[in-house]
Amino acid sequence: MIARFENGATVEADLLVGADGIHSRVRSLVFGPEKPRFTGCVAWRGLVPAERIRHLSIGIASHSWLGPDGHVVHYWVSAGRMMNVVCVVEHGDWAQESWIDKGEVADVLSRYDGWHPTVRCLIGAFPETFIWALHGRAELPCWSAGRVRLLGDACHPMLPMMGAGRRAIDRGRRRARGATQGHARRQRGRTGAL
Ligand SMILES: Cc1cc2nc3c(=O)[nH]c(=O)nc-3n(C[C@H](O)[C@H](O)[C@H](O)COP(=O)(O)OP(=O)(O)OC[C@H]3O[C@@H](n4cnc5c(N)ncnc54)[C@H](O)[C@@H]3O)c2cc1C
Repeated sequence: MIARFENGATVEADLLVGADGIHSRVRSLVFGPEKPRFTGCVAWRGLVPAERIRHLSIGIASHSWLGPDGHVVHYWVSAGRMMNVVCVVEHGDWAQESWIDKGEVADVLSRYDGWHPTVRCLIGAFPETFIWALHGRAELPCWSAGRVRLLGDACHPMLPMMGAGRRAIDRGRRRARGATQGHARRQRGRTGAL
């Protein structure tokens, strides 16, 4: 099997794993085209320098705040130098999907009016914020066809806080299955069974 890339590169392999995200080219080539659908959820993300929020004394853990029509998740990144803060609202009015659209911190603050002071303080400390419309796809009943297999958002796009973890689970499952199959093969080799 030969994979040809837009930059002219080609790779020959026995197996092709399409881990190419929500707009997966591998998925559309193998399972047919289907547009991602807008979930109605909109996310803002901000990276807050630690010195701006030291007075909040936030511990090393993933923190989730649930409220009406939205939630906020934050955790330390960059060895504790920055706090990653993701604010998701349902019924958002921003449908554009991009990794580079800037939002307004004032808009985020107004959507979280009345939330806990820690949440508002975190948002208020954003040096800047980026905005995403969150899209999904129908999950495929089967993630492989012949010698092609899909992985991660290519086969089951996830909303924030779930996707990267789920991709890791996919990998773990594959490894566990490989180990089980390897074990079964070894057993068959010993007994001579097919
Ligand atoms: C705002 C936001 C916040 C999020 N926060 C979290 C979070 O806190 N925790 C969490 O678990 N998940 C989070 N997610 C979801 C998470 O980002 C995704 O579920 C995860 O990245 C999926 O991983 P993936 O490897 O399947 O796809 P991707 O991360 O999208 O990677 C696909 C890769 O394939 C490459 N690619 C695509 N097409 C081609 C091509 N034709 N040729 C060559 N390369 C190609 C892309 O450049 C990219 O590098 C968030 C998502 C959003 C939008």
